[in-house]
Order: sequence, then C-alpha cells, then structure tokens
Amino acid sequence: MQILEVNLKKHEVKVREAEKDEYHFIGGKGIGFSIFSKYLSSDILIFALGPLTGLKMSGMAKCAAVFKSPQTGLVAESSCGGFFGVELRRAGFTAVLIKGISNKPVILKIDNESAELLDARNLWGKDTFETEDEIKADFGKRYKVACIGQAGENLVKFACIEHAKGREFGRCGGGAVMGSMKLKAVAVKGDKDVESEITDYERYSELKEEFEEKIVKGLRGLTETGTPRMLPIVNEAGVLPTGYWRDGEFEAVEEIMDDLNKIHKRKRACYACRVACGKISKFNGNEVDGPEYETIFSFGSLCNIKDLNVIAEANLLCDRFGMDTISAGNVVAYYLNSTGRLGDGEIVPELLKKIAYRKGEGDRLAEGLKEFSSIHIKGLEIPGYDPRGLYGTAIGYAVCYRGGCHIKHVMHRPNLDGEVDRFRPDGQAELLVEVEDFYGFTDSMVICRFVTLPKGVLRQKEVAELYNVVTGSNFTKKDVMKKGREVINLSRKINELLGLSRKDDKLPEFFFREPLGKGNSEGRVVNKKDFEKMLEEYYRLRGWHEV
Ligand code: SF4
Repeated sequence: MQILEVNLKKHEVKVREAEKDEYHFIGGKGIGFSIFSKYLSSDILIFALGPLTGLKMSGMAKCAAVFKSPQTGLVAESSCGGFFGVELRRAGFTAVLIKGISNKPVILKIDNESAELLDARNLWGKDTFETEDEIKADFGKRYKVACIGQAGENLVKFACIEHAKGREFGRCGGGAVMGSMKLKAVAVKGDKDVESEITDYERYSELKEEFEEKIVKGLRGLTETGTPRMLPIVNEAGVLPTGYWRDGEFEAVEEIMDDLNKIHKRKRACYACRVACGKISKFNGNEVDGPEYETIFSFGSLCNIKDLNVIAEANLLCDRFGMDTISAGNVVAYYLNSTGRLGDGEIVPELLKKIAYRKGEGDRLAEGLKEFSSIHIKGLEIPGYDPRGLYGTAIGYAVCYRGGCHIKHVMHRPNLDGEVDRFRPDGQAELLVEVEDFYGFTDSMVICRFVTLPKGVLRQKEVAELYNVVTGSNFTKKDVMKKGREVINLSRKINELLGLSRKDDKLPEFFFREPLGKGNSEGRVVNKKDFEKMLEEYYRLRGWHEV
C-alpha cells in the first residue's frame, strides 16, 4: 500500500509504504483517520481509497477526503464519486497525504507514481469549471481534477472540493482547507490495471455478476428519478424542512417533480456504475449536474422557493464557486427568513456571489450558520430531514462525528419505512449503532452509500465476500462490524483530542421547543426525555464514558 506524501511548505513530494497502524484500518475513512490522528492539524488533507476502488463494478468509484473541518473544528470525512479516486488508484496510491501551507498557489500533478507541485497563480481567482478546463487543456484530457473555486480561495467555511463539474467532496469545508493551504487543484493520471491485483479473479467475476444484477434491479428507482425520488416520500411524512424549519410539507413538491421531468436531459454515472443516479438538467440555456434531493430541499422548500430554474441556477453557481449546497442553502434560507424575504428567488444568485467573494453581507454569511443562528449541529448545517418527525435521525444527527449529517447513518430510511417507529425512542440507538458500524467499514472500503443502504443490495455478508476475494482475507460478517466499530471509535478518540465531549452531542433547542408546522408530523417536537433516553442508550451500547 503506497502513500504519496506532499509537503506544501517545503515543496517536496515522496512515496512511502503505509504503516501497520494505518493499513489496519483498511482504507478510505479508516486509513484517513489513522493518518490524521498523528497530526490533528488544520493544514492536513488526505485523499484515501479503498481496496475495491476502481473495480469495474457499480458503486466502486468513490474517494474519501479527510481533514479538520473549519465548520466544526472536528475531524471530517467527505466522499466524492466520478473518476478522481479511480485515477488515483490507477496511479498506484492508497492515499495522498498533503500537509503544510504553500507560499503561493499550486497544483499537485500526479502522473502514475511521480508527482510534482506546479505554480497555479494563473488559475487563482478562476471558478472550478474554468480551472478544470484549463488544467485539462494544459496537461491532457486523461487527467482527472479535484479543485477549488473562489469560495475555497476566500475561505468560505462551507467551500467544497469540486470534481468533473458537478461531483463534490461536498460537506464540512474541505474547499476552505485547500484554500488555506494554497492548493488550487490536484490533477491525476494513472495507467495501472486495478483488477489485475485481485486475489481470486474468477470468484470476483461470479460475485460481480450476481451483485450487479441485484444492484441494477434494486436501485431502479434511483436510476430513473435520481435522489429527488425522496421528495414526495419525505413530504408525505411531513418532515421536509420548509420555510426555514417552520413546516414539514412544501406545497410545490408535485410541481417541482413535474418540472424535473422536463429539465432532466440525460443520466450521468460515476466510473463503471450501472446505476447512473446522476441527472444532467438543462435550464435557461445552461446545463447542471442535478439538482439532487438535498439541493431541492435547501434552495427550494427551506427557502420557500418554488421555481426549479432558481434552484438549478443556485446549484450551478455553488458548483462553479465551489460551495456545498446543503450549507449554502441553509445560510441563504436563514438570510431570507431573517429579512422577511422567504420565497424571493431573485436575490439568490447575487447573494451566492457575495458569499463566494465575501463581499458585503456575504462576508458574514460565509462564516456559516454557527456564527449567527442556533440551527446547526456542531457547526454543520442540517440536511433535509426534520428530526422532529424522525427520532432515529434526531439521535443520528446529534452523535454524528461530523455534525449535522444524514449520510453517515441514513436513519431517515428505517424511520420512514416503519422499521422503527419514527415518533418513539425505542430501538433507535440500537439500530443507529449497527448502521454506523457497518458504514464505518464500507466508508473505509469507500463503497457508494446507495449500494449499501439498509435493506439494500450489499450488506455485511456481500461486502465481506467482496473484500475477501479482492484482498485474500477471510473476513466474516462479524469482522466487518468489528472493524467498522474500530473506525467509529477512532473518530471519537480524535474528536475528544480536538475538544469534543458528550455535552456536544446535542440538537438545537429549537427542535425541542418549537412544534413542527403544516404536514403529517404537525405539532411534533423532539421530546427531551426521549432524546436523553436515546443518547443514554447510545453511549451504553458504544461503551463510551462521559468526557
Ligand atoms: S450509485 Fe450514483 S453516486 Fe453511487 S457510484 Fe453509482 S452513479 Fe455514483
């Protein structure tokens, strides 16, 4: 397992073997956390891959980025699909560790196992699309690029790292980390045949055939409609955050779904993925990758904006400036609400520009909600599932190592499909621990969440089988969960070193106090006693003590 180590301060690069305490954690999030734990610093960025990354199979194209979040001050891991991770793996690396601050803007160029730092002053100030185009024109189209736009350069706290014009390391502010390190982009090209490294290729081929069939069948809805398919489901349950967290039902959902059908032009897939959940949309003469469910929630229902063109434009601007749409939409919704302009889409493009350039009121908003509102969790803006009608999500949000996040536990799923009663505390903590442990492992393998959803296609048994045939290991379902738990415990240990304690595992008081408005969860709050019960149970099951 090779790690590329890059020192931006000294402008040095070197290749080293992964150490035992690093590869013990498999790859991806696990190896990223393990490396990060040796530094705990703001000028560390790790891109990490898993043993399955780059296989010609659905869901195996993701790459993890690990860093200290400027939003939460805690360890963060964010993943991105597309082609970047696959290319890094082809170049021969399990991880790239970038440390220090450069004295001028640079690009990290990786061509197989050789790497160099190049002057990027000519790209500073350009958006992510221009940056990627110019790098490809210069280095060649084969290069895959992860870069920042103006938001990252200007240290907007929720700046993301953009790839392939619409794929992101989205959450937790990785773009601001790159900006602070003066790293404009990473461009990579690799020629290795990843599948030639598989230990038991014959058995892998059999498994692949079997699993692909199930994946394609099981995720047909995602292929057809993409993530917006969740909109009517969440709306019907009355937990679609609307009008800056006032209601749980948005009257324009049907209209938006109809409009989506009209603007969706073609599917988009990550490397070798037959699910192809991405959608390229055309609006007002522009093309955008999306909008995804979370973007429609954050710039649509949360802002009370019904016009899909406004949502699509906000999506495109966030992609170009390099900003996470969940956080940016929350910040815009806060602004519209506090100025009495909810529903006013006209000012959104200009507001996003002001945030990206930190101009006028945009400078304050670029700091994120933590600076001026209580509706965030550990400093991270909250995604599109209202915890007042989803108790599993409530406890999942509160304890998540990276703050207000749904994807590290997806507890809205078992809550919405009735596996556990969404209005009761019973069984939530137990299920949460189970899914977190499983995802501790799959995020270290860096497998796409969609193919590992609860009741989904690749579960413990299938993931263990794939791991074994690829690496020659002998993992059981139990080993998968044990390793995943080790990764979750490592994230906790790191966060405690960074100052986190049990008192930080909480929800905004707002959700205990203010009843949810219009919709099928009307009148609901998170009952504080129920919440404490879930938290107590979670800590007991984790074996964590109060700190
Ligand atoms: S399911 Fe979607 S996000 Fe996941 S790898 Fe496939 S195309 Fe990418």
